[in-house]
Amino acid sequence: MVPPAALQLSSSPASFLVSLIAEELHNFELLELELELNLELELELELELELELELELELELELELELELELELELELELELELELELAGAGAVAKMEVVIVPVLEDNYSYLVIDQASRLAAVVDPVEPQKLLDEAKKHGVQVVMALTTHSHWDHAGGNGQLKQLAPSVRIYGGQGDNAEAVDEEVNEATRLTLGETEITVLETPCHTPGHVTFVARHADQPAAAFTGDTLFVAGCGNFNSGTAQQMKTALVDKICALPDDSQLFVGHEYTVKNLLFATTVEPDSQEVQDRLAWARARREAHEYTVPTTVGAEKATNPFVRCTQQTVLQYADTTDPVAALAKVRADKTAWGRRK
Ligand SMILES: [Zn+2]
Repeated sequence: MVPPAALQLSSSPASFLVSLIAEELHNFELLELELELNLELELELELELELELELELELELELELELELELELELELELELELELELAGAGAVAKMEVVIVPVLEDNYSYLVIDQASRLAAVVDPVEPQKLLDEAKKHGVQVVMALTTHSHWDHAGGNGQLKQLAPSVRIYGGQGDNAEAVDEEVNEATRLTLGETEITVLETPCHTPGHVTFVARHADQPAAAFTGDTLFVAGCGNFNSGTAQQMKTALVDKICALPDDSQLFVGHEYTVKNLLFATTVEPDSQEVQDRLAWARARREAHEYTVPTTVGAEKATNPFVRCTQQTVLQYADTTDPVAALAKVRADKTAWGRRK
């Protein structure tokens, strides 16, 4: 059966329309797909760019790290150089150092520093806090105290030191009965302060067990702590001893050390001692020069310690008891008798002053 024309007419454009719409739809779908593909591609591109950026950043970071490493290496090298320089400098300074600490009216205490170990000894710490403060200032640890003799103005701080620093070991001469001594020493004693060795000279006379401590470090002059046995251009009172003992202590022990040995004495009596020395050896230019030097030092508020064995041999009338001028002064050929006479005259001269 043939469909009515109207229907034919109406159905044909309709099917055309349908097919048109279908085509359009198809086209649209295709476009959408294309767009989607495009979007995907764009996304991919973006991702690629992002990756590239990330890579660039990574590279930059790597470069930065490399630079930092280089800087670190440079710093390390600089530090190494500084250390080397410091070490070279340290080689130039003393490995054993003695710090002078004036105490009471005219006494001297000392801080002996061993640079390598940063350990220290104190000598006659009558005002212990002053010495501990000095040690702190130098960044060193006080491990021992050396007592030259029992008199209060030398040993009188030992008990207090023990309270302030209980670990400090206190040494004193055999039979001298100095305050708070942990261990008595004699000429067989060897004490070790880091790389510094400390030995003892028995120098009795001023007190029965007076000792002189001698500190030594390789390639350095010895440092002797003479207490009240030897002063600059002087010597201590004989109190419990004899002229023979003092002659042995001064001439045969302390001044038998090498001439460049440094002597750290117990009191600042130098100007008075040299004034007296001019009465024993009035023609000595060396004594006159030494007196002028000592006066200048004192006027400038400077110490006259340390002295040296060489200087004492040249100007100390007690040490010089073996010399012709002093023997003539004492009108004797016996050095011990000369020493006794010089000591007696010094005491009388002191009373007149
Ligand atoms: Zn004394």
